[in-house]
Amino acid sequence: MTLLNVEALDCRYGLLQAVRSVSLRVEAGETVALIGANGAGKTTLLRAVAGAHRPHSGRVVFDGVDITRLPAHRRVALGIALVPEGRRLFPSLTVEENLRVAASRRRRGPWNVQSVLEVFPMLQQRRRRPAASLSGGEQQAVAIGRALMSNPRLLLLDEVSLGLAPIVVDAVYRSLAGIISEGSTVLLVEQDLTRALRVAGRVVCLLEGRVVLEEAAGGLDRDRVVNAYFGLRRPA
Ligand code: ATP
Repeated sequence: MTLLNVEALDCRYGLLQAVRSVSLRVEAGETVALIGANGAGKTTLLRAVAGAHRPHSGRVVFDGVDITRLPAHRRVALGIALVPEGRRLFPSLTVEENLRVAASRRRRGPWNVQSVLEVFPMLQQRRRRPAASLSGGEQQAVAIGRALMSNPRLLLLDEVSLGLAPIVVDAVYRSLAGIISEGSTVLLVEQDLTRALRVAGRVVCLLEGRVVLEEAAGGLDRDRVVNAYFGLRRPA
């Protein structure tokens, strides 16, 4: 079943066209990695799906419903959760409070404070600490946990590894693998190709706002991806 269907989406910032006629499908239960160089349009595309950026043209269809004009909070209620770049926690609230704030628009489902803490063991000892006192990796875990608290049907993750030490990224990705194995549907932006290929079933590469490669992650030709990523030559 197609959960997300992006059709010929164009996103602009004034005269700058950040996303150019992008079409993309995500099937229920699938994990798709959006890759591409800086400025390729990945964040803008994710934000357009979440309702944080109003597209110039095209459609965003979620579970068969056209949500292109729906405000972000209504999309959360439908089951779309975005973990934005930069985490954006409430710094003076504790870990648990940050998680509970997100629960106000909760859908029914498996995620609650307890199950989030189980999937992110690094937070268990920190649950009563203010978010501001946490390390970058712990803050990222809270940001993902906060999105899970809404019990999303589609989880959008924007560069969860940004600014984190490799060992911390490993821990965050271990938890993500657990979340994915629970059957979540995930669309994630990841600059690190190796990590993207490890976690995703399918990879979509953007170059200057356009989809230049879309392929199953298993058996993907790395050279082709690198060429698409840097626009060295059009992949065959
Ligand atoms: P990065 O990995 O650097 O986050 P990205 O692939 O996520 O890159 P976007 O952040 O979506 O790319 O940016 C796409 C294009 O839109 C870039 O040229 C960027 O400079 C531009 N852009 C992004 N946000 C804005 C904004 N708020 N105002 C104007 N231009 C923007």
